[in-house]
Formats: sequence, C-alpha cells, structure tokens
Amino acid sequence: MIPFPRLLHPRFTLAARSAQAVLRELGNPEPPINIEPYLKKMKWRLKYEELHGPDGYMIKLVKGGKVRYTIYLATDSDPDSPYDVETIQKRQFFTAVHELGHILLHGNFLLNSHESMNAIPEELAGILEVEAHWFASKLLMPNYVFRQPSDLIPEILAKKCGVNITPAIKRLSKLDNNIRESLTTSFRLDKYEKLPTWIDDPHSIYCASLKWDSIHQALNASKRRRYICPKCGLFHGDHNIWGPYCIECEEPVRLVKFPQERYYFFT
Ligand SMILES: [Zn+2]
Ligand SMILES: [Zn+2]
Repeated sequence: MIPFPRLLHPRFTLAARSAQAVLRELGNPEPPINIEPYLKKMKWRLKYEELHGPDGYMIKLVKGGKVRYTIYLATDSDPDSPYDVETIQKRQFFTAVHELGHILLHGNFLLNSHESMNAIPEELAGILEVEAHWFASKLLMPNYVFRQPSDLIPEILAKKCGVNITPAIKRLSKLDNNIRESLTTSFRLDKYEKLPTWIDDPHSIYCASLKWDSIHQALNASKRRRYICPKCGLFHGDHNIWGPYCIECEEPVRLVKFPQERYYFFT
C-alpha cells in the first residue's frame, strides 16, 4: 500500500480532469450519463447489497498482480425514509459515480476502502470525500451539458442529468462564471428558450418564483447589467456592440432592475 498523500485541500482540478477522462472514454455522451459501459470495459463490478450503514463503498482486490475493483451500493430499505423510489435510485446512481471517483483518485493508496477508510486520518478522509463528490458532480453534470439559460435552473439541470436537486444546486453554486456569462449574455426566455417537454405549462417556469429566482440569481451572480427590449423581450448583456438598442428590433432597451421588476418581462 502506498502511504497516504499529504493533502491540505481537495484537488478539484485533478478530480475534474479524471471525470473528463472517463467522459471522453464514453464518447462525451448526452446526460443522463451512465458509467456502466466504463465499468464493464475496466472489468470493475457494481454490486447491490445490504450494507447496514454506508450508501456505498468500493473494494480493491489484487489477484495475480491484477487489480480489480468492486463498487458496492446499499439496498437497505428504511421504512421510515421520507424519500421516494426515484430519489433513492438517483442517490444510488450518484453514489456509484462517487465510488468510481475514489477508485480513480484514491485507488492507489487504498487497500480496501471499507476497512482502511477508518485508518485514514479524519481530516484527510474529509478531503477525499470532497474530491470524490466533485468528481461525481463534474461527471454527471459536465460543462458541456450547459447549453441554455434554463440549465441554470436547479430543477431543470437535475431532471436533465438524472440527479437529485441537492447535487444540482451544489453544482450550480460552483459553476464556472464563463459558462454562466455565455448563457445569459443574450437570451429570450419566452420565444427562443426551448422548454423541456416535461413542463406541461410553459408559464409555470416564469411564474414559480423559486424558478424565476434561480434565473435571477444566475443573472446577478455575473454582476453585470442586463437590459431588456420592451418590444420583443430579448435580454441583452452590457457588452452589446449595438449600443442601447435591441439587436433584433432596434428598439431602445431598458435596464432590468431586480427584484422590483421581477416579473417585468412577461407582464
Ligand atoms: Zn466516499
Ligand atoms: Zn427587440
């Protein structure tokens, strides 16, 4: 066993690169991303068992000089659990990717995570957990899935990527600002935004204040002024080369003020 590394903080870049490497191997698939073909290729197994505690763990087996990993996922059912089957399955799915993160990032120095996790100093264990989580987050919600402003809404991102709402919120809170900028510089929710088909009433997205607040937060997070065309409803960033006029209908644009004019663009 290789000695434990001395880490002072989580290696976010390394975790993100490992996730990218797996995605490349899978051919950068559309979400929801399934890691099973990757596990199959590596001949690593995924097993479902009652684990009496943890959500999952991974085991390293060295046999005849060959290293094999197995990921165990908990099937323990808690009759008092407030979560529905879908939520539990999504959590299991996230856990599997989290464990894959442990294999790829920490497999070298772990003999058997189930046992040696206890041998790892608490502070280091915390860092390894953060790394595995960041790996899972970047693998299941990679940069390339962010294509339109609605992807900045946690509910929509979660649905698109097959994850629960909490990991989606966390992912968005750490989203690269360049991605946010590129998605919100110029957009029109009412006309150009393609809404996912599972939203029966397209207006629900505008009206539910929670969802609107998410877009509002997304816009505000970039700390740039936004303008709206009163005629066609197009949002503009402040780097509009056409000046204070709409790039489509040449109407003078107005500064968007949040939150007083929260519902401005569809009233
Ligand atoms: Zn873990
Ligand atoms: Zn316009």
